[in-house]
Amino acid sequence: MSHDHPYGKPVNVLKFTDTKQVLIDKAELEKMFDHQEVKNRKVVVFSIIGAFRRGKSFFLDYCLRFLYSHYPSINNLNNPLDNQQDWMGNGEEPLSGFTWRSGTKRDTTGIIMWSDVFLHTLELTGEKIAIVVMDTQGLFDNETSPADNSRIFALGTLISSIQVLNLVGIIQEDQLQYLQFATEFARFAAADSQGLGGKPFQNLLFLIRDWSNPDEFEFGTEGGDHYLKDVLKVKSDQKPELRSVRQFISSSFEQINCCLLPYPGKTVARVKTYDGRWSKMDEEFKEELQKVIEHLLLPNNVILKKINSKDLKGSEMKEYIDSYFQLFQS
Ligand code: GDP
Ligand code: MG
Repeated sequence: MSHDHPYGKPVNVLKFTDTKQVLIDKAELEKMFDHQEVKNRKVVVFSIIGAFRRGKSFFLDYCLRFLYSHYPSINNLNNPLDNQQDWMGNGEEPLSGFTWRSGTKRDTTGIIMWSDVFLHTLELTGEKIAIVVMDTQGLFDNETSPADNSRIFALGTLISSIQVLNLVGIIQEDQLQYLQFATEFARFAAADSQGLGGKPFQNLLFLIRDWSNPDEFEFGTEGGDHYLKDVLKVKSDQKPELRSVRQFISSSFEQINCCLLPYPGKTVARVKTYDGRWSKMDEEFKEELQKVIEHLLLPNNVILKKINSKDLKGSEMKEYIDSYFQLFQS
């Protein structure tokens, strides 16, 4: 289901057609990144990626709710909420934003950006920043080929400053191998624009949904980081290929974190007509959801997009996106 939002809409900036062509919506990218309020600001690109129907858009829509209550945006220059602690708002309000649905048929493949861009001036430095939100659709489903999957993943990694990798249950060995494969692809594509030295990509957050083992590792980011450390630990008795996967991933991202979220409750997980309102979430899930969103999106926590250790402005970012997209058109 899709609910109209007063200030923005999802725009499919890159999509794969049935005939395997890549279509890019340059006009929409220009509207966002060359906007007079955005082109000279440093940008944050907040992205989520992962298999279809795992609560990605649902999560992003709550991120939008947070962002609208904390920041003005190009389509809503009014000051945000006075009472920002209550950003979750009314518990009976249906969720709106990125399309999300229960069901088994996906709607789009490719990269989708929220048309509205959030604006902020950092208190400490006076720097003006812009926050762009990105959703990725159709990864790891039956209809998307492995080649397309890694192309989408690589693009998401190249463009974002925070990449949320949304997984269910646990981090599996084959997912780490896949991550290495896609990241190699991205490093290859980035070779021209990345200098030597330093790590090519920025923040990666493993977001684990329906975590069922809180006795061993607690919900939230601290428990998550402990769990991740355990998963990424290079052990002497490991098979060499598993060891190299771990080393490769650690050497590709500046920072890697993890957050463990509880099961959201039966209504969220199973009811076909559920509209996203938080009154139907399990209390524990709601609390952890709030905490991780604040952890990621409060002004002092957002991560600016850097290429070659240089912060990128909106207009420069658009050039990069154009050139990366073109790499994938052939
Ligand atoms: P996407 O395809 O990954 O973007 O998934 P959606 O955001 O469209 O959500 C798919 C379904 O998962 C919806 O019915 C949501 O209510 C449900 N959902 C959202 N979050 C969670 C979660 O943490 N766990 C479970 N089990 N289901 C969830
Ligand atoms: Mg979605």
